[in-house]
Amino acid sequence: MAGEPQADCLFCKIVSGEVPATVVRETDTTVAFRDINPQAPTHVLVIPKAHYPDAASLAAADPRATADVLREAGSVAAEEKLDETGYRVVFNTGSGAGQTVFHAHAHVLGGRGLNWPPG
Ligand code: 5GP
Repeated sequence: MAGEPQADCLFCKIVSGEVPATVVRETDTTVAFRDINPQAPTHVLVIPKAHYPDAASLAAADPRATADVLREAGSVAAEEKLDETGYRVVFNTGSGAGQTVFHAHAHVLGGRGLNWPPG
């Protein structure tokens, strides 16, 4: 069923606690944790607890959780003091865009200059 945990999903295992992560924030619908391979001084992933393969399918199925992910991204940025210097929220969607984990997630990146356009 849509949104149900998937046995072979790494991020579902982080939600359940089966795989450890450095969690920085948690709500009833979301978890935010530090990326294992940070691409910036602050690199936090915000995920919905429900399993959807990417941001578009999350948004189509669960607008509330989508809003929660975006709000939590902002809260992470504020806690990490990224508001003044700027930060980026990225949803890689599809393997051609660099998505490697097919459980929707927002990257929150900051703490260094960020080029535009991204590579
Ligand atoms: P994607 O490439 O799908 O947009 O992002 C997946 C992210 O998950 C990558 O930045 C990668 O470093 C991160 N990641 C992969 N495995 C783990 C893990 O076991 N723990 C944590 N905290 N992050 C992970």
